[in-house]
Amino acid sequence: MSVANPDLSSFSLASKTAVVTGANTGIGQAIAVGLARAGARVALVGRSAMDETVAMIGGDPNDTLEIRADLSTLNPVQEIVDKTVAWSGGLDILVNNAGIIRRADAIDFSEEDWDAVIDVNLKSLFFLSQACARQMLKQGGGKIVNIASILSFQGGIRIASYTAAKSGLAGLTRLLANEWAGKGINVNAIAPGYVETNNTAPLIADPLRNKAILDRIPAGHWGKPHEIAGAATFLASPAADYIHGVVLPVDGGWLAR
Ligand code: NAP
Repeated sequence: MSVANPDLSSFSLASKTAVVTGANTGIGQAIAVGLARAGARVALVGRSAMDETVAMIGGDPNDTLEIRADLSTLNPVQEIVDKTVAWSGGLDILVNNAGIIRRADAIDFSEEDWDAVIDVNLKSLFFLSQACARQMLKQGGGKIVNIASILSFQGGIRIASYTAAKSGLAGLTRLLANEWAGKGINVNAIAPGYVETNNTAPLIADPLRNKAILDRIPAGHWGKPHEIAGAATFLASPAADYIHGVVLPVDGGWLAR
Protein backbone atom coordinates (compact mmCIF):
# COMPACT_ATOMS: atom_id res chain seq x y z
CA MET A 1 0.00 0.00 0.00
CA SER A 2 1.42 3.40 -0.90
CA VAL A 3 1.50 6.05 1.78
CA ALA A 4 1.02 9.69 0.75
CA ASN A 5 2.35 11.67 3.65
CA PRO A 6 1.26 15.31 3.68
CA ASP A 7 4.00 17.88 3.23
CA LEU A 8 4.04 21.41 4.62
CA SER A 9 2.06 22.68 1.62
CA SER A 10 -1.04 20.96 3.02
CA PHE A 11 -0.98 23.53 5.83
CA SER A 12 -1.00 26.40 3.32
CA LEU A 13 -4.11 28.43 2.53
CA ALA A 14 -2.68 29.88 -0.68
CA SER A 15 -5.43 30.47 -3.28
CA LYS A 16 -8.15 30.06 -0.63
CA THR A 17 -10.78 32.67 0.20
CA ALA A 18 -11.96 32.93 3.79
CA VAL A 19 -14.82 34.72 5.53
CA VAL A 20 -14.23 35.59 9.18
CA THR A 21 -17.07 37.11 11.22
CA GLY A 22 -16.30 39.51 14.05
CA ALA A 23 -12.89 40.18 12.53
CA ASN A 24 -12.32 43.69 13.94
CA THR A 25 -11.07 42.62 17.38
CA GLY A 26 -10.21 39.79 19.74
CA ILE A 27 -10.20 36.18 18.61
CA GLY A 28 -11.72 36.92 15.19
CA GLN A 29 -9.04 39.49 14.45
CA ALA A 30 -6.26 37.06 15.40
CA ILE A 31 -7.81 34.32 13.28
CA ALA A 32 -8.15 36.65 10.27
CA VAL A 33 -4.48 37.57 10.59
CA GLY A 34 -3.51 33.90 10.98
CA LEU A 35 -5.44 32.82 7.89
CA ALA A 36 -3.95 35.69 5.87
CA ARG A 37 -0.42 34.78 6.97
CA ALA A 38 -1.11 31.22 5.79
CA GLY A 39 -1.93 32.65 2.35
CA ALA A 40 -5.70 33.18 2.32
CA ARG A 41 -7.55 36.22 1.04
CA VAL A 42 -9.89 37.22 3.84
CA ALA A 43 -13.31 38.87 3.84
CA LEU A 44 -13.52 40.66 7.18
CA VAL A 45 -17.14 40.67 8.32
CA GLY A 46 -18.62 42.63 11.21
CA ARG A 47 -20.48 45.68 12.40
CA SER A 48 -17.36 47.77 13.22
CA ALA A 49 -14.52 49.18 11.13
CA MET A 50 -11.83 46.64 10.22
CA ASP A 51 -8.97 49.14 9.82
CA GLU A 52 -6.85 47.67 12.61
CA THR A 53 -7.15 44.14 11.20
CA VAL A 54 -6.37 45.33 7.68
CA ALA A 55 -3.26 47.08 9.03
CA MET A 56 -2.17 43.97 10.93
CA ILE A 57 -2.53 41.86 7.79
CA GLY A 58 -0.60 44.48 5.86
CA GLY A 59 0.68 43.66 2.41
CA ASP A 60 -1.60 44.03 -0.56
CA PRO A 61 -4.94 45.75 0.22
CA ASN A 62 -6.48 43.40 -2.35
CA ASP A 63 -5.92 40.58 0.13
CA THR A 64 -8.77 41.77 2.33
CA LEU A 65 -12.37 42.84 1.81
CA GLU A 66 -14.36 44.64 4.49
CA ILE A 67 -18.03 43.70 4.71
CA ARG A 68 -20.09 45.66 7.22
CA ALA A 69 -22.81 43.39 8.57
CA ASP A 70 -24.87 43.23 11.73
CA LEU A 71 -25.42 39.55 12.43
CA SER A 72 -28.18 40.10 14.97
CA THR A 73 -30.54 39.49 12.02
CA LEU A 74 -30.39 37.28 8.95
CA ASN A 75 -30.59 40.28 6.59
CA PRO A 76 -26.87 40.38 5.64
CA VAL A 77 -26.38 36.63 5.27
CA GLN A 78 -26.71 36.18 1.50
CA GLU A 79 -24.99 39.52 0.85
CA ILE A 80 -21.89 38.27 2.69
CA VAL A 81 -21.63 35.31 0.34
CA ASP A 82 -22.41 37.33 -2.77
CA LYS A 83 -19.91 40.11 -1.99
CA THR A 84 -17.18 37.60 -1.17
CA VAL A 85 -17.70 35.59 -4.36
CA ALA A 86 -17.91 38.75 -6.48
CA TRP A 87 -14.61 39.92 -4.95
CA SER A 88 -12.64 36.71 -5.04
CA GLY A 89 -14.42 34.28 -7.32
CA GLY A 90 -15.17 31.75 -4.59
CA LEU A 91 -15.54 31.05 -0.89
CA ASP A 92 -13.53 28.20 0.62
CA ILE A 93 -13.44 28.87 4.38
CA LEU A 94 -15.97 30.24 6.86
CA VAL A 95 -14.95 31.06 10.43
CA ASN A 96 -18.05 31.70 12.54
CA ASN A 97 -16.51 33.81 15.28
CA ALA A 98 -18.89 36.74 15.96
CA GLY A 99 -20.54 36.32 19.31
CA ILE A 100 -21.91 38.16 22.32
CA ILE A 101 -22.46 37.34 25.97
CA ARG A 102 -24.98 38.64 28.51
CA ARG A 103 -24.47 38.14 32.24
CA ALA A 104 -27.24 37.88 34.86
CA ASP A 105 -28.38 35.37 37.44
CA ALA A 106 -30.65 32.73 35.88
CA ILE A 107 -33.45 33.73 38.24
CA ASP A 108 -33.47 37.25 36.75
CA PHE A 109 -32.46 36.45 33.16
CA SER A 110 -34.51 38.47 30.64
CA GLU A 111 -36.05 37.42 27.35
CA GLU A 112 -34.07 40.19 25.64
CA ASP A 113 -30.77 38.77 26.95
CA TRP A 114 -31.87 35.30 25.86
CA ASP A 115 -32.90 36.27 22.31
CA ALA A 116 -29.97 38.62 21.62
CA VAL A 117 -27.37 35.94 22.33
CA ILE A 118 -29.20 33.10 20.60
CA ASP A 119 -29.76 35.27 17.50
CA VAL A 120 -26.09 36.15 16.98
CA ASN A 121 -24.34 33.09 18.42
CA LEU A 122 -26.59 30.39 17.00
CA LYS A 123 -29.31 31.49 14.57
CA SER A 124 -27.24 33.76 12.30
CA LEU A 125 -24.35 31.32 12.57
CA PHE A 126 -26.50 28.49 11.25
CA PHE A 127 -27.97 30.42 8.34
CA LEU A 128 -24.61 31.92 7.35
CA SER A 129 -23.17 28.39 7.40
CA GLN A 130 -26.04 27.25 5.18
CA ALA A 131 -25.53 30.10 2.69
CA CYS A 132 -21.76 29.53 2.56
CA ALA A 133 -22.19 25.75 2.26
CA ARG A 134 -24.43 26.22 -0.78
CA GLN A 135 -21.54 28.10 -2.43
CA MET A 136 -18.96 25.55 -1.21
CA LEU A 137 -21.02 22.70 -2.66
CA LYS A 138 -20.86 24.39 -6.07
CA GLN A 139 -17.07 24.46 -5.71
CA GLY A 140 -16.76 20.85 -4.49
CA GLY A 141 -16.15 21.54 -0.80
CA GLY A 142 -14.87 23.86 1.87
CA LYS A 143 -14.13 24.32 5.55
CA ILE A 144 -16.30 25.71 8.32
CA VAL A 145 -14.74 26.48 11.71
CA ASN A 146 -17.12 27.45 14.51
CA ILE A 147 -15.91 29.27 17.59
CA ALA A 148 -17.54 27.41 20.44
CA SER A 149 -16.43 27.62 24.09
CA ILE A 150 -15.61 25.59 27.16
CA LEU A 151 -19.28 26.40 27.88
CA SER A 152 -19.97 23.84 25.12
CA PHE A 153 -18.86 21.30 27.75
CA GLN A 154 -19.55 23.00 31.08
CA GLY A 155 -22.45 24.91 32.62
CA GLY A 156 -20.84 28.10 33.86
CA ILE A 157 -22.83 30.60 35.92
CA ARG A 158 -24.79 33.77 35.09
CA ILE A 159 -24.64 33.25 31.30
CA ALA A 160 -27.71 31.13 30.56
CA SER A 161 -28.21 32.08 26.92
CA TYR A 162 -24.48 31.90 26.18
CA THR A 163 -24.16 28.39 27.62
CA ALA A 164 -27.27 27.31 25.71
CA ALA A 165 -25.89 28.77 22.47
CA LYS A 166 -22.38 27.32 22.83
CA SER A 167 -23.68 23.90 23.93
CA GLY A 168 -26.09 24.01 20.99
CA LEU A 169 -23.22 24.94 18.71
CA ALA A 170 -21.34 21.77 19.67
CA GLY A 171 -24.34 19.71 18.59
CA LEU A 172 -24.85 21.78 15.45
CA THR A 173 -21.19 21.28 14.52
CA ARG A 174 -21.68 17.51 14.70
CA LEU A 175 -24.97 17.61 12.77
CA LEU A 176 -23.52 19.69 9.94
CA ALA A 177 -20.45 17.44 9.83
CA ASN A 178 -22.73 14.41 9.47
CA GLU A 179 -24.66 15.99 6.60
CA TRP A 180 -21.77 17.61 4.74
CA ALA A 181 -18.64 15.50 5.38
CA GLY A 182 -19.48 13.24 2.43
CA LYS A 183 -19.89 16.32 0.22
CA GLY A 184 -16.40 17.69 0.87
CA ILE A 185 -17.22 20.22 3.58
CA ASN A 186 -15.41 19.90 6.90
CA VAL A 187 -17.34 21.35 9.83
CA ASN A 188 -15.44 21.60 13.10
CA ALA A 189 -15.30 23.85 16.13
CA ILE A 190 -12.74 25.32 18.49
CA ALA A 191 -13.54 25.71 22.17
CA PRO A 192 -11.37 28.53 23.49
CA GLY A 193 -10.76 28.67 27.21
CA TYR A 194 -10.44 32.01 28.97
CA VAL A 195 -8.97 34.47 26.47
CA GLU A 196 -8.20 38.15 27.07
CA THR A 197 -10.72 40.07 24.92
CA ASN A 198 -13.61 42.52 25.29
CA ASN A 199 -15.82 39.51 26.04
CA THR A 200 -13.91 38.67 29.22
CA ALA A 201 -12.93 42.19 30.34
CA PRO A 202 -15.44 42.15 33.26
CA LEU A 203 -13.94 38.89 34.58
CA ILE A 204 -10.38 40.18 34.31
CA ALA A 205 -11.43 43.34 36.17
CA ASP A 206 -12.93 41.31 39.04
CA PRO A 207 -9.97 40.33 41.29
CA LEU A 208 -11.77 37.34 42.86
CA ARG A 209 -13.03 35.85 39.57
CA ASN A 210 -9.70 36.58 37.90
CA LYS A 211 -7.75 34.71 40.58
CA ALA A 212 -10.21 31.79 40.67
CA ILE A 213 -9.94 31.42 36.89
CA LEU A 214 -6.15 31.73 36.81
CA ASP A 215 -5.75 29.21 39.64
CA ARG A 216 -7.43 26.48 37.59
CA ILE A 217 -5.69 27.03 34.25
CA PRO A 218 -2.86 24.47 34.07
CA ALA A 219 -0.93 26.68 31.63
CA GLY A 220 -0.95 29.39 34.31
CA HIS A 221 -2.09 32.31 32.14
CA TRP A 222 -5.11 33.62 30.29
CA GLY A 223 -5.12 32.80 26.60
CA LYS A 224 -4.13 35.46 24.08
CA PRO A 225 -6.21 35.75 20.89
CA HIS A 226 -3.26 34.66 18.72
CA GLU A 227 -3.14 31.38 20.68
CA ILE A 228 -6.49 30.45 19.11
CA ALA A 229 -5.42 31.34 15.56
CA GLY A 230 -3.16 28.33 14.99
CA ALA A 231 -5.94 25.81 15.55
CA ALA A 232 -8.28 27.74 13.27
CA THR A 233 -5.65 27.94 10.52
CA PHE A 234 -5.02 24.20 10.79
CA LEU A 235 -8.73 23.28 10.71
CA ALA A 236 -9.16 25.54 7.65
CA SER A 237 -6.33 23.83 5.79
CA PRO A 238 -6.14 20.71 3.60
CA ALA A 239 -4.09 19.10 6.40
CA ALA A 240 -7.41 18.74 8.26
CA ASP A 241 -9.30 17.13 5.36
CA TYR A 242 -10.18 14.01 7.40
CA ILE A 243 -11.29 15.89 10.53
CA HIS A 244 -15.06 16.23 10.87
CA GLY A 245 -17.33 17.20 13.74
CA VAL A 246 -14.74 17.79 16.46
CA VAL A 247 -14.94 20.47 19.13
CA LEU A 248 -11.27 21.14 19.84
CA PRO A 249 -10.47 22.74 23.20
CA VAL A 250 -7.74 25.39 23.07
CA ASP A 251 -7.86 26.25 26.73
CA GLY A 252 -4.45 26.00 28.42
CA GLY A 253 -5.61 22.67 29.85
CA TRP A 254 -8.75 24.00 31.60
CA LEU A 255 -10.95 21.04 30.62
CA ALA A 256 -8.24 18.54 31.54
CA ARG A 257 -8.29 19.74 35.14
P1 NAP B 1 -15.01 40.22 21.41
O1 NAP B 1 -13.70 40.89 21.42
O2 NAP B 1 -16.16 40.82 22.14
O3 NAP B 1 -15.39 39.92 19.89
C1 NAP B 1 -16.70 39.59 19.49
C2 NAP B 1 -16.80 39.88 18.02
O4 NAP B 1 -18.12 39.59 17.57
C3 NAP B 1 -16.55 41.36 17.72
O5 NAP B 1 -15.90 41.47 16.51
C4 NAP B 1 -17.96 41.88 17.63
O6 NAP B 1 -18.07 43.08 16.92
C5 NAP B 1 -18.62 40.74 16.90
N1 NAP B 1 -20.07 40.84 16.98
C6 NAP B 1 -20.82 40.84 18.09
N2 NAP B 1 -22.11 41.02 17.76
C7 NAP B 1 -22.16 41.16 16.41
C8 NAP B 1 -23.20 41.39 15.49
N3 NAP B 1 -24.47 41.55 15.87
N4 NAP B 1 -22.89 41.48 14.18
C9 NAP B 1 -21.62 41.34 13.77
N5 NAP B 1 -20.58 41.13 14.61
C10 NAP B 1 -20.85 41.03 15.93
O7 NAP B 1 -14.87 38.80 22.06
P2 NAP B 1 -14.03 37.50 21.66
O8 NAP B 1 -13.66 36.89 22.94
O9 NAP B 1 -12.97 37.80 20.65
O10 NAP B 1 -15.17 36.62 21.02
C11 NAP B 1 -15.04 35.96 19.77
C12 NAP B 1 -15.73 34.61 19.85
O11 NAP B 1 -15.00 33.80 20.77
C13 NAP B 1 -17.16 34.68 20.38
O12 NAP B 1 -17.97 33.76 19.68
C14 NAP B 1 -17.00 34.24 21.82
O13 NAP B 1 -18.17 33.69 22.35
C15 NAP B 1 -15.91 33.21 21.66
N6 NAP B 1 -15.20 32.84 22.90
C16 NAP B 1 -14.48 33.78 23.59
C17 NAP B 1 -13.81 33.37 24.74
C18 NAP B 1 -12.97 34.31 25.55
O14 NAP B 1 -12.51 33.91 26.64
N7 NAP B 1 -12.73 35.53 25.12
C19 NAP B 1 -13.89 32.06 25.17
C20 NAP B 1 -14.64 31.15 24.44
C21 NAP B 1 -15.29 31.56 23.29
P3 NAP B 1 -18.02 44.50 17.71
O15 NAP B 1 -16.60 44.69 18.15
O16 NAP B 1 -18.47 45.48 16.70
O17 NAP B 1 -18.96 44.37 18.88
